[in-house]
Amino acid sequence: MSEPTVSLERTEAWGDRPVPALDLKAQYETIRDEVEPLVLRIMRDQAFVLGPEVSGLEAEMADYCQAPYGIGCASGSDALLIPLLAWEIGPGDEVVTTPYSFFATAGAIWRTGAKPVFVDIDPVTYNIDPALIEAAITDKTRVLLPVHLYGQTAEMEPIRRIAQEHGLPVLEDSAQAIGAEYRGLRTGNLGEVAAFSFYPSKNLGGFGDGGMITTHDEALGKRMARIRVHGMEPRYYHHEVGFNSRLDSLQAAVLRVKLRHLDDWAQARREVARRYHELFAKHLKDDVLVLPTEVEGRFHVFNQFVVRVRDNQRDALKESLAARKIGSEIYYPVPLHLQKCFSSLGYGPGDFPIAEAAAKETLALPMYPELSAEAQEHVVRSIARYFGERRTTRAA
Ligand SMILES: *Cc1c(COP(=O)(O)O)cnc(C)c1O
Repeated sequence: MSEPTVSLERTEAWGDRPVPALDLKAQYETIRDEVEPLVLRIMRDQAFVLGPEVSGLEAEMADYCQAPYGIGCASGSDALLIPLLAWEIGPGDEVVTTPYSFFATAGAIWRTGAKPVFVDIDPVTYNIDPALIEAAITDKTRVLLPVHLYGQTAEMEPIRRIAQEHGLPVLEDSAQAIGAEYRGLRTGNLGEVAAFSFYPSKNLGGFGDGGMITTHDEALGKRMARIRVHGMEPRYYHHEVGFNSRLDSLQAAVLRVKLRHLDDWAQARREVARRYHELFAKHLKDDVLVLPTEVEGRFHVFNQFVVRVRDNQRDALKESLAARKIGSEIYYPVPLHLQKCFSSLGYGPGDFPIAEAAAKETLALPMYPELSAEAQEHVVRSIARYFGERRTTRAA
């Protein structure tokens, strides 16, 4: 039997210190002096909802995303729902999207009364496969909703071409991909409307929930801004029934500080990704892991560093990392078409084999801008050791 092809030296230097999947405290330390006086000021001002901090953030986000209008709202989930409501999507309508995303992508469609229609993904990027979209379009299709998963944009050129041919708007789910680029254009500028999330684990995360919508369409932007305040304009005059999806001043103030660091953090995430590639090439001389690929013409911002684990080893590897206090996450164990709440849509196992395989095989490794080279080396050596020991056991 062949010898283990991996390095089994102990990683004593790191010892048994934990490596979390995400370390928000490390980032906070770097901006604490900027943020804390602002938070104190807002507490003293007692001006909590919308207001100048929110309009400031809206303008700065719009500028950052190369889109003319930004509309702050209460979450990324609402940032998906509000444009669908503004387009008057509802019962009888269909929205084409991916089955491999966070629940909110399909949940927003369902909430309007419309039907999510899923299309399988590309096995390399995990994003919707544009070659399969055309066949999913019917005379009921109203919107195309691609997701830029894990920080890399979907293949937008064919998606936009199909949308144009059928006269459909494109809604980008950019919750995981602020600052990501497709052929030099940023997310927020790749469709008619884009939805962003400020959930703390996103690349631009607040101190709680928050979201942002960007658009090029002024009239639509005004309508979306109205929907988030119960369809009200001016105060106490209601044009349509919206709901409350306001953004807090406190979140906006914190996010404005963080936005100024976002490009540096994106570069740091890219450096972490580059080091993973280098370390795996050095320590894991095996093809059991498939590392993420940055497709040509894209700028990946690595909200997650997701590897594919072959040979049914994903769950056991995750456990072995947990035993060594290394955090990892499974995004997403159940694809959307197999969620119980969508059973009435009539999908079943085998309908989207690429998404189903991704759900079984992928694992997100620790990824955040402050992750040190030493911690990464420990993660990679621990993975190499797992596969080395497994090989030795099998050989015995
Ligand atoms: C986080 C996320 C959302 C929802 O954002 P919230 O702010 O948590 O409501 C939507 N889509 C994707 C792909 C996400 O990752």
